[in-house]
Parts: sequence; C-alpha cells; structure tokens
Amino acid sequence: MQKVILSFVISLFTFSTLQAQKPTAPSSSEIFESIQKLNFLGSVLYIAAHPDDENTRLISYMENHVKARTAYLSITRGDGGQNLIGPEIRELLGVIRTQELLAARRIDGGEQLFTRANDFGYSKDAEETLEIWNKDQVLSDVVLAIRKFKPDIVINRFDHKTSGTTHGHHTSSALLSFEAFDLANDRSAYPEMLKDAGVWKPKRLFFNTNSWFYSSQEAFDEANKDNRISFDVGTYYPLKGLSNNEMASIASSQHLSQGFGRSSQRGAQNEYLEFLKGDVLIDNTNIFEGVDTSWNRIKDGKAIGDILYAIENNFSFKDPSTHIPKLMEAYKMLQTIEDTHWKTLKTNEIKSIIEMCAGLYLEASAENASTTLNQTVKINMEVLNRSNQHIVLESISQGDGKSIAESLELKNNISEKFQTDYFISNKEDYTSPYWLNKKGTLGMYEVENKALIGLPETPRSVKINFNVKINNTPITFTKDVVYRYSKPDKGELYNPFEIIPEASAKITEKVIIFAYDKQRDIAVVVKAGRDNLEGFVEVCHPKDWSVFPEKQNVSIAHKGEEQVLTFTIIPPKNQSEGLISPIVHINDKNYTKELIEITYEHIPFQTVLLPSESKIVRLDIKKKGENIAYIAGAGDVVPESLQQIGYNVLTMKPEDINAETLKRFDAVVVGIRAYNTVENLEFKQQLLFDFVANGGNMIVQYNTSRGLITNNLAPYDLKLSSDRVTEENAEVRFLNPNHPLLNYPNKITQKDFEGWTQERGLYFPSSWAKEFTPILSMNDKNETPKDGSLLVAKYGKGYYIYTGLSFFREFPEGVSGAYRLFANMLSIGKEDLKLNSKVSD
Ligand SMILES: [Zn+2]
Repeated sequence: MQKVILSFVISLFTFSTLQAQKPTAPSSSEIFESIQKLNFLGSVLYIAAHPDDENTRLISYMENHVKARTAYLSITRGDGGQNLIGPEIRELLGVIRTQELLAARRIDGGEQLFTRANDFGYSKDAEETLEIWNKDQVLSDVVLAIRKFKPDIVINRFDHKTSGTTHGHHTSSALLSFEAFDLANDRSAYPEMLKDAGVWKPKRLFFNTNSWFYSSQEAFDEANKDNRISFDVGTYYPLKGLSNNEMASIASSQHLSQGFGRSSQRGAQNEYLEFLKGDVLIDNTNIFEGVDTSWNRIKDGKAIGDILYAIENNFSFKDPSTHIPKLMEAYKMLQTIEDTHWKTLKTNEIKSIIEMCAGLYLEASAENASTTLNQTVKINMEVLNRSNQHIVLESISQGDGKSIAESLELKNNISEKFQTDYFISNKEDYTSPYWLNKKGTLGMYEVENKALIGLPETPRSVKINFNVKINNTPITFTKDVVYRYSKPDKGELYNPFEIIPEASAKITEKVIIFAYDKQRDIAVVVKAGRDNLEGFVEVCHPKDWSVFPEKQNVSIAHKGEEQVLTFTIIPPKNQSEGLISPIVHINDKNYTKELIEITYEHIPFQTVLLPSESKIVRLDIKKKGENIAYIAGAGDVVPESLQQIGYNVLTMKPEDINAETLKRFDAVVVGIRAYNTVENLEFKQQLLFDFVANGGNMIVQYNTSRGLITNNLAPYDLKLSSDRVTEENAEVRFLNPNHPLLNYPNKITQKDFEGWTQERGLYFPSSWAKEFTPILSMNDKNETPKDGSLLVAKYGKGYYIYTGLSFFREFPEGVSGAYRLFANMLSIGKEDLKLNSKVSD
C-alpha cells in the first residue's frame, strides 16, 4: 500500500515537471506556503560545481521549512559527465543537465544559477581547474551571483581547504565562494557590474560538512565541533503529505542522465554546517541570527508586513480569493518603497499569489510548435477568472504594444477566448541556449550579452501581456507563448514555442577517417524550417581536400521535412586533417548551423543550434592482421573506429568465446571496464590466454581498480591503481624507443601524441610482473612518473597488452596518433604475415 501511495506522489511531481510550460492553478495549501515565503525576508545561496552535487535535502529544508529564498549556484552545467539515458554528450549533455537542475528546483522550490565555466572533465586539483577555467571570469560570475541574489547565508558544498582530495572543480567551487564572499562587498572589485547589481555583504559563510569529508564516521564524530552546528532536516510537511527527505529524493531523482533515480528516505536526518566566516554565531540554532527576516527589514516595510502577516494568520483555505482586496492593498504599498531589490522580488511574489488566489487562468498558445523569422503566427489566448473578485481585463498586448482585447469584465468562471496574429521580426534571436551561441574555450563559455550571465536558460522573447484591473488597480501578468497540443497516448502536452532558422544542415558522421587515399561519399541532411524552401548547398573544406560536386540545389516543399544530398570527399595523398561544413544558401542568406532537438519526458523539449561541422582525417597508417574480436564492456566506439581503418570487427558475447571461435581472429580487444561490468567474463580468461599462447594478440583497455570481477586480469601479475594522467598534453616519454610497439608497422613519434583530448589515460597499473615491458612514461604536473599506461608481454606465441590510455576518448575525436598506435598494438608479432601495409580494402 505504501508503495502505491509513494508512486502516486511521485507521479504527481512527474506530472508537474513534465508540464513545466502548462499554466498552473495551485491548491490552497500551495498558496498558503507561498504567503509564508512572502513573509520571510531572508535568503540562502548554496554553491557547488556540478548538477547533482547539490544537497537537495538542505536546499529543500531551507526553502520549505525555513521559508528562505534559496538558490543553487552550480559553477558548471555538467557537460563533462556521462549520459546514461541517451547519445548526447558535451554541450548537449550540459543542456540536459541544466534542465534536470531546473526540474529538481521545480520540486524543492529553489532557484537555479550558473557561471560561464565549462565542465571540461575530471581534474585532480583546484590549481589545474583554475588554470583551465578563466579564474577571474568565474570568480566575477560568483561575485555577480552574490551581488544580484543578495543572500544572507552562503553555504559551500565542498571544503576549500583540501585541494586534491576530490574533483578539482569541487574544491574550486568552494575556493571561489570563499574569495567572492568578501569581494561582493568591495566596490573596487568588478566595478563594471555595480550599476546593475550594486554591492552586497552576506551575513555568514558555511561549509556543509559531513563524514564523507573525513576518513571515517568516527573521525567526523571526534573532530572539533566548536565551529559546527547541526540540525534535523527530516521535517514532515503535513500540507504536502511529504517529509523533507522524500521531497529531496524526488528532486535529486531528476538527475536521470547521471543515474540518480533513487528511492526516498524518511525520518530524522542531521545536516552539519561548519562556520567559515562572517558574523560569529552566538546561539547555535539559527543560521539567520542577527538578520531581521521580517518585513521590518525594509524601510516602510512594517505597514506592508502588518497586512500580510494578518493574511497568513487568518488564511482561508476554503476561499483564498477573499484575501485579494488586502493583497492588492499590500501590492500598491509595495510599489512605493525605495529599495528596488525587495520591491522587484516581492512584487513578483505577491502578483503570483494574487493570480493564484483568483484562480486566474492565463494562457497564450501558438498554433504551431515553431516559426522562423519574418513570419506571422496565430496565437490563441484563454482568460478565466475563477473567483467572485471584481476583475476587469483592460487589454491584451504583445511585445510591440499592439492591443488585442477591449475592456471586459471577467465574470466568475466564464472563459474568454481571443486570437491574434503575432509577427516575429527578423530582429528576434533563434531559440537556443545562449551560452552556446559563440565558440568558447576548453574551460569557458563565451557569453556576448552580459545581461544573460548567470541565467539558467535563455529568456523567451515571444510574450503576451494580460493587463487587468483588480479592484480598480492596474496589474499586468506577462506569459511566455507556449505550444499546446495533444497525443492520443499521452493526452494534453505543452512545449516551449521555438524560433528556428528557415534552413539547417548536418553531416551525419561527426568524424570521418580516411585510411586510404580513396574518395568517400558523405550525406548532408538539409531540414526546412518553413514551407517551400528553395536554394543550394555547398560544403566548405580544407585546401588540400576536394569535394564534388561544388554545389547542389535543395528544394523542400514542407516545413519539418528533410532532403539528403550526397557529396564526394576526395582526400589528399598524405596525412592531413581539417573540418568540413555545409552552407545552405537561401535567397541572399547563409545557414551554417545544425538544429538539434532534445526530447525526454522529465525535462521540457529543447532545440539547440550548433555549428554544423565534421572532422575529416586522412591517416598515414599501416596495419597487420585482418579480423578482430571485440568484447564489449561499459561501452566505447572501438569497433566502429577499427572498422574505419579497415579491420573486420566482430563483437562477441562471453558465452560465444571458445577455442574454436577464437581461431578466426588475429586479435581480441576488450572494451573499457569489461572486468568491472561483464560478470561471466572471468570464466573465459583461460581460453583467452590460450588464444594468446597460440599466437593471438589480446588488448585489454582500462578497468577501475575497485570492483573487479576477477584478480586474473592477465597471464602474469598485474596490479591496477588509481594512477591517471588528466593533462591531455602531458609530456610522453618513450621508455623503449626501439620496441616494435613504437616502430612497426607505424613509426610512432611525439607528433602522435599531439591533439589528444580530455586526458592521457586512467587507472594505470602500478606494479607488474617482470615479463611486462612498459613502453611509455608520463605524469601530470608535480607528480611522479607513471610508467603503467601501456604494458606489453609476450605469452607463448602471442602478445598480451594492457593499456589505460584513453583510446575510447581519442577515437571519436579522430586523433590520428591514437589510431596509429592502436594499429601497432594489433600488429605486434605479425611481421611474417602477408603484408597488408598501406592498407588496401
Ligand atoms: Zn561534482
């Protein structure tokens, strides 16, 4: 039974996140809680590095129990993580994880902020992180967040004192917060933002510590607690029928791309805050000590508070609309106060409460899901007052001020419908995440429009203003235009309304490897954003490559349809790489972007525009052997990549491995983390070693040192460690320059280690039997040399190779040196095979 209740609760929340665009009419208890929040004038800013770092328990507790305005500042958008629910990685994963944070905040009630920092992947310490991020820019963004949000309390998720013990992004988030805490109140710091944001002095800074930051629970319990306060955040909320920890679990379960779906917890649960700086606490129970969180906090606020506290104390759950006259009175008084920060903030809150109390339903929905520039779209509007309050619709207006409706009294529960033509001028921007509009660096996004910095997403530009008079006081409610539609199997659905280019194009393969000097055909897919699209397409390419034909006509009758054009790419004779990009010419305009649509049930529909380009690589590569067996692990693109350079690759399941089947192969390649994830592989080890003894090659890629399914990884002793080299440009030293792995059939040079991405490798073995020969040595700055990245041992007639080098990252990026080295690994010991050099197909 409990299970049924919980799933009902979760589905309620799922519904509300699914329907993020839908106009909502909250229940009386939600309205009451909004009034409680309206009457609490205090705020908390929680700071960490990534989506899913945030402690939703504490955020939810601050927002729903304390009633403080609470925001999570995530320094990055989590672009560097792995996506467990779909193919999107890098920037596109950042878009999904941004939306997952917003979905989590819709549940716990918090707000969401970001900086311009890019999650470039794992980083060992803060020093490296702050070199790759533009430290000054990220610091200025944290200062801006504090100056704009004006928190009384700042809470760091991570410890700023212990760089090197966790992800460098984590420590950096705490270091930046620690520094920004003082800078926010320093007029000489970032003076360019003073005009809009002013300065701000938060009351105090805490670190949200727990036993995870200590060697053990005992060490945490025994540590000096003078600076530490704790409180139970397991509060039960009768108005919600949920406890705080249940809400927090539902919120953090929005991080589905990271596999954070989890079941909830109930009961008492402590959180710990370690005081870092600001005003010292005297009484250890109230983090807001010394902050007046009542309406008396603002000049002329007392009279407003008198009205609003009375509403809170005598709230009518049966008919919240009875409070509208008093709420309007407070609204009018609020317009006269001097403090613009509180005026703006509380005006928005009180307007939303008035709207909720009146059961006002205001919707503007476009007839189509999207439009292009210079087009007119039809918009349907619905206006409905569900109270006995005297509400008059004065007018409905568009962004350009054009008035749609005449003055009209809104009678209780009588729905009024309107329609208008909305012209989208060519000055509007396309709908796309603002931080992806310009090409950034490895560590930073470039944001041209400074006003957008910090915002979670691009504000919508197509809006409708509903201008009403309530008790003769004018008040305007502004709504984003949405797209409402229905599906037989899903019911009514809401999407954001999108402005898209009239044409977009993509090349289906993102990296195209030419192992021979033979031409190849590629497909360019052109998509129409409007009906009757006519124009032509050409493909830009590096000088030493050719593309045929030079241009092709495109003609698409209907919006949303695609046309596939085939172009032939002719590579040069020698090693070379570059980018190709399609350009669609429509009349006198050029379109160079690819339109990507992201559709998941737990987040709103997203469109993203990215430069349309593919990497082309002409490899100078020789290889021996033909047939490769691949055993999949946690997933990598090694099979496709080896096929691109001319190998026949067959993916084998463990149960298909036997002496007879293995005979057909020259080498076996084991996918990343196979010995962490493929349970029955341990029983096949001896068969694989026998295959090597009989003359085959076996290449095992990285596994994590913890959670191995067998200790029998290799035919000789081999011990994995957590050694990794995260600096992708770290110097690579050849320990055995004459070893065949570095010479046959491809001569490997320093050039082959140029252009690597994200890292050199991970989980290198730290000790090995004397039969192994280490080939390479490398290390991150200020670390000892790591020699275990590539180990080779002769076993019987064949070779066993263990490598933690990140081929799985380099192959999809078309890094030529990675292909050449891997070809040598597959070719070792096969000198006497029929020479297959200068690869022929
Ligand atoms: Zn993290």
